[in-house]
Amino acid sequence: MDIAVLRSRIYTGDSNRPWAEAVCVKDGRVAAVGSTAEVEALCGRSTQIFEMRGRLVTPGIVDAHLHFVSFGLYLERIDLRDLTSIAACRERLKAAVVKKRPGEWIIGRGWNEHIWSDRREPCAKDIDDISPDHPVMLVRCCGHTVWINSAAMRLAGITRETVDAPGARIERDDGGNPIGLCREYRKIIEKIIPPPTLEERKAAALRAQAEALRYGVTGVHTCETLAEWDALAALEAERKLRIRVHHTLPPEEVEKAKARGIELTKGSDRLWFGQVKLFADGTLGSGTALLHAPYADDPSTTGLECLTVAQMQERIELAYRHGGDVAVHAIGDLATTHVLDAIEKARARFPGPKRDRVEHVQLMHPADFARFRNMDVTASCQPVHLHTDMLVAEKKWGPDRCKYGYAWKSMLKAGIKVQFGSDAPVEHINPLLSFHAAIARQNPAGEPKVGWFPGERLTLEETFHAFTVVPAWTSRREERLGVLAPGKLADLTVFGEDLSALEPAKLPAAHVEMTIVGGEVAYRN
Ligand SMILES: [Zn+2]
Repeated sequence: MDIAVLRSRIYTGDSNRPWAEAVCVKDGRVAAVGSTAEVEALCGRSTQIFEMRGRLVTPGIVDAHLHFVSFGLYLERIDLRDLTSIAACRERLKAAVVKKRPGEWIIGRGWNEHIWSDRREPCAKDIDDISPDHPVMLVRCCGHTVWINSAAMRLAGITRETVDAPGARIERDDGGNPIGLCREYRKIIEKIIPPPTLEERKAAALRAQAEALRYGVTGVHTCETLAEWDALAALEAERKLRIRVHHTLPPEEVEKAKARGIELTKGSDRLWFGQVKLFADGTLGSGTALLHAPYADDPSTTGLECLTVAQMQERIELAYRHGGDVAVHAIGDLATTHVLDAIEKARARFPGPKRDRVEHVQLMHPADFARFRNMDVTASCQPVHLHTDMLVAEKKWGPDRCKYGYAWKSMLKAGIKVQFGSDAPVEHINPLLSFHAAIARQNPAGEPKVGWFPGERLTLEETFHAFTVVPAWTSRREERLGVLAPGKLADLTVFGEDLSALEPAKLPAAHVEMTIVGGEVAYRN
């Protein structure tokens, strides 16, 4: 045996034997799982033994929804997430301005006016005086709405004559002048920012990888483009890619990828092309998630429809034609209904087993629980969003609808496969934050005391399952990944505490002791 972990508490993910106390690894694969006595008997002189009493081990944690290279890029950008006022954002921007040459873009993200003392949305005037010569784009925590300064508006050609792009909205003052706040506009602004070079992307991926491994993440499902794939493929060729990456691509790139030999569901065990990624709607925070009934705080709107059912169906069929399946972003309940409608229609033309998934599923229509299960579509959710979203959800959807918000327990009870991720860089990659959100349904301050819709709280075991077993299945790697059983690739996460003995409130402060990928210790605390 190469490695053995003994005297620990081990969640195996294997339904025949969900818990064990020891595991050993040979040639990158799990060789045996069982009692310490059983595993110790297999160890030899050269076995590296880890005594892990008081720790908890899981199959390698997989973050099933994030933006990996972009997360690495944002690790170097301004982080506004914890700030509680516009004044505080100004201070952080000021510090960034002095480090950049005039004309260089300054990018930041994570602001959230709902936690600001200002109680209002920001505009260019708030930052023009401190950044007259640098174009600035500050992305809201939702990842969609941008706060830009006048220099950025000049470069983007946004004037009072500019017509809103379809599905997007430029906020204006009473005179019709753009104020520097644009909804569904990040992609449009990003087009005029010089893109990072291949080397910058590779460096970003390595930063993201180090951070992921530090938090016990052995695999990710990343929603990005061919440019990010290229960076990851280059790292794999240089043997620097240690984490496993299931990569989605937008529909426009499927043919281009194929011409270069990158095919749906194919690749190595480090990097493979999983699903085609689509968007059905916007987000909760920006009021663009698509709803069956109008917003509680703005009855004039039901949100934004990014693609019609027919447009979605066409793109889903493209994925099916290439032998793959889809991952569709849907946050509002009507968006989810539309996705199921489109998938149903596409499957009627392309029958056969599928591993489709809906990303986020923050609000469900009660009638859709059974449809999800019957169609075997996976709900791909990010519990950590709940920390900031619960109050916003109640305000925007109203308490009645919130019964079906972030309804993970109801999904499991309905027989739906549920998987979890962080949506980094939108949220922190640390899975312990999601464990806490899923199990306690409280914010980090412990509110509400009984948990938000406490009937939807999950157990630790259910949470592990959503971070291990299910992502292996949706990425078509369940034969090699997702559980600790003989013959599986040896990806393990060792938490420094026995999480099952911790109060849920203590979960965010727990730590990772060791991260093993393919039998190699990739991180050790
Ligand atoms: Zn995302």
